[in-house]
Amino acid sequence: MSATTPAPLLEVHDLTVHYALPGRSRFLGGGKLRVHAVDGVSFDLGEGETLGIVGETGCGKSSLGRAVLQLVRPTAGSVRWRNRDLCTLPEGELREVRRELQIIFQDPLSSLNPRMTVGEIVAEPLRLHQPGMPAEERQRAVAEMFTRVGLRPDMTSRYPSEFSGGQAQRVSIARAMILAPRLIVCDEPVSALDVSIQAQVCNLLRDLQRETGISMIFISHDLAIVRYMCQRVLVMYLGQVMELADRDALFDRPLHPYSRALISAVPRADPQHLVAEIPVLDGEMPSPIDPPGGCPFHSRCPQAIPRCISTRPPLEDTGDGRKVACHRWREPPGSVPQMTRQP
Ligand code: SF4
Repeated sequence: MSATTPAPLLEVHDLTVHYALPGRSRFLGGGKLRVHAVDGVSFDLGEGETLGIVGETGCGKSSLGRAVLQLVRPTAGSVRWRNRDLCTLPEGELREVRRELQIIFQDPLSSLNPRMTVGEIVAEPLRLHQPGMPAEERQRAVAEMFTRVGLRPDMTSRYPSEFSGGQAQRVSIARAMILAPRLIVCDEPVSALDVSIQAQVCNLLRDLQRETGISMIFISHDLAIVRYMCQRVLVMYLGQVMELADRDALFDRPLHPYSRALISAVPRADPQHLVAEIPVLDGEMPSPIDPPGGCPFHSRCPQAIPRCISTRPPLEDTGDGRKVACHRWREPPGSVPQMTRQP
């Protein structure tokens, strides 16, 4: 790293999350069956940066976000936040650090306590982390936060059930922002909302980021939204990183066949880009309980060769600031066989 490059706020190295399936053992050889939710993921994140994490349902995006925040304890690897490894921090110290690290969930109405008023919900982190704060000051902070997220302060006495999905997500954002965190993990924050509301919530997040300089991890299966929100994008498949690149590099020239397939499914304004050789993603992702050897994408990859079945490709630096895990990334897409669309 050069002397002028600031150290990343967050450095994730070889992060692994395996879950044991309760009560289920392998028939032969014994041992518990394990879900390989996250398998050796590494990335970093700078101040004020938004990193998108994309991939199909079940690829490990949410587990990765939760493991970064230590809401699930990783099986292996490290998560360095401002040079402290969260994975080895004692619970007491971790609790202190947690005020800097917040999360917004997909479904706001199920993530808000229905028995508390929304004012109490937003005030709760202040009660926990700043117990000495006078009640009046807390109420003032909550009212100000309501205004910042586009809600009226007089709404604080209402209950979550009285809010629309978009309003409830604004309450979730207010709760996440009330402690002035430095990192927020947005786990599919708009996918439960009407399309007309999605843009409003995305713009709110961008405005808050501009005002506060907060860093974001933005998890989504919607690549159009990721393109709008993020500076860099990490593409995941079966718990592993397939490609990590600047947004424009990834969307303009994806190197990994899986990235190409995902991006080909994003509607574009320019029909010229919908060229015939763009691959279509066929079949289903293999089970993360017993992931295949070699390249995890080989069973669906239109470019697979025998080596892909036997040898896992390393995540290679391509020399232009991106990383890709594919034996054939150097070959232009048009020079290798492509999967064709089924009639
Ligand atoms: Fe496809 Fe092989 Fe590359 Fe995997 S390593 S993405 S199977 S070409």
